[in-house]
Amino acid sequence: MTFAHKALLLLASLTLPCMPVAMARDQAKAAAPAAAPAPAADAPKLVIAIAVDQFSADLFAQYRSHMTGGLARLAGGGVFPAGFQSHAATETCPGHSTILTGMRPAHTGIIANTWFDLSVARANKAVYCAEDETKTAAAPGDYVASVGHLKVPTLGERIKAVWPTSRNIAVSGKDRAALMMGGHKIDEVYWWKGKSFVTLDGQTASPSVGEANAAAAALIASGAPAFDLPGDCAAHERAVTAGPVTVGTGRFALNPGDATAFRVSPRIDRAVLELALRLVDADRLGRAATPDVLAISLSATDYIGHGYGTQGTEMCIQVHQIDAALGAFFAALDTRGIDYGVVLTADHGGFDMPERQNEQAMPQAQRADVALLPKALSERVGAKLGLDPKGLFVGEGASGDVWVRTDLTPAQKTAAIAAARDDLLARPQVAAVFSAAELAATPMPTGSPETWTPIQRARASYYAPVSGDFVTLLKRGVMAMPMPGPGYVATHGSPWDYDRRVPILFWRKGMTGFEQASPVETVDIAPTLAAWVGLKLPAGTFDGRCLDLDAGPGTTCGAPQ
Ligand SMILES: [Zn+2]
Repeated sequence: MTFAHKALLLLASLTLPCMPVAMARDQAKAAAPAAAPAPAADAPKLVIAIAVDQFSADLFAQYRSHMTGGLARLAGGGVFPAGFQSHAATETCPGHSTILTGMRPAHTGIIANTWFDLSVARANKAVYCAEDETKTAAAPGDYVASVGHLKVPTLGERIKAVWPTSRNIAVSGKDRAALMMGGHKIDEVYWWKGKSFVTLDGQTASPSVGEANAAAAALIASGAPAFDLPGDCAAHERAVTAGPVTVGTGRFALNPGDATAFRVSPRIDRAVLELALRLVDADRLGRAATPDVLAISLSATDYIGHGYGTQGTEMCIQVHQIDAALGAFFAALDTRGIDYGVVLTADHGGFDMPERQNEQAMPQAQRADVALLPKALSERVGAKLGLDPKGLFVGEGASGDVWVRTDLTPAQKTAAIAAARDDLLARPQVAAVFSAAELAATPMPTGSPETWTPIQRARASYYAPVSGDFVTLLKRGVMAMPMPGPGYVATHGSPWDYDRRVPILFWRKGMTGFEQASPVETVDIAPTLAAWVGLKLPAGTFDGRCLDLDAGPGTTCGAPQ
């Protein structure tokens, strides 16, 4: 029996438990105040928002004709092949923050996965987007997960504000993905943490999580054979070396006890979808008069993209496995008779490792020079200006936001930024350097994200309270990862379209499919879903706009508000 068959049987075997929590919820609905506006008469009862981490528009285009499962189903709905995470800092946390808020990182406050807060009261000034840095974790090296840095509400929160008994639930392989899609007022939120699914401190986990953890633990303990190579993946099977690592021919054999190999494989996505289905049953999602929201983020594509690049057997197997896993998930929802509407997108795109790109018609692809790293920049500028170089500039890497040490006088700080800009712009890999003052003075961009200039892209990532003193953008094809290593040969995060462009697919049973090739944005998703369920919100609520999912003269966007 293949892994896919086992997963199908598991999905089919999950039954509808009569949980006390579900009964209490139904009673609460019966007692709901009559003043709340009704949802749209034809609204889906369950909105499922799926983010496939690092699933670029390029991957969707490459594999679309080979799909037969869940991705094929979605490709028969409302298809926007040119969706944009339109901001410059194309990382996981900012990307997930746009999907269900309808806001760009400039408004969500999530400018990066990690930023530096030089005022934070601890030795490590790096702040993770999904942590509460004011609290100390129980275990050394750990952090307290939190959604506190997200400055705006999510769709699930907006729905609950109008229909309080609607459920808002999120599940993912990563904490930041679940938290940024779920938001602050969330009924349940779970993510994979090393060896099991966990939730926020102080929140009680559903019995479904115990079941999901037991199933995952059993699989990790037993191990699993390598995946078969789908026929269209054979052409991808070629070993390529990047520094100390050779990739391109992997098939994800799981050695017993190897939790990391479980995570960096299609199996973690199966586990997330199986947990999501358990929650659908335990919480009776999609069975009440008002809509529920279930956010799901599938992380394996990103782990595999980072660990193996995008053009080997590894990614080919992964895309086929997502297609199959989503197909099983949707089929299980169908057997339950739930009226659900789906959107699938990604938090950012991706770019293959330069070593393979160089062999495949892209000699320009290269890794960033270590001279661009903040430490090296500090030494050069410190020497030039006669300033102590230690910690003069801090930042995550060769590109993105950079912070200047806080003990400088205003004149020294201005001189340091000017010198850093001159130094960086003289280097062949740097496309642009923008100061915080320049970004603050730039209007929020409008119009097609395809034609935004570099400073407009960076403006959409700029949030004054946490953004750096300047931002560095590398040229197209320069990967901001100087040295490859095990589990890390390629990355995203650039302002270029291979990292910004993602598919946006809407689907609901009975919907007439259509294809709209013009650019749209991930910030259009929340207003589209809000209108789909009949949630009326004031004009100007979102950075995005409602996309009409009716292929004919009708509209799902309602009357202009
Ligand atoms: Zn990501």
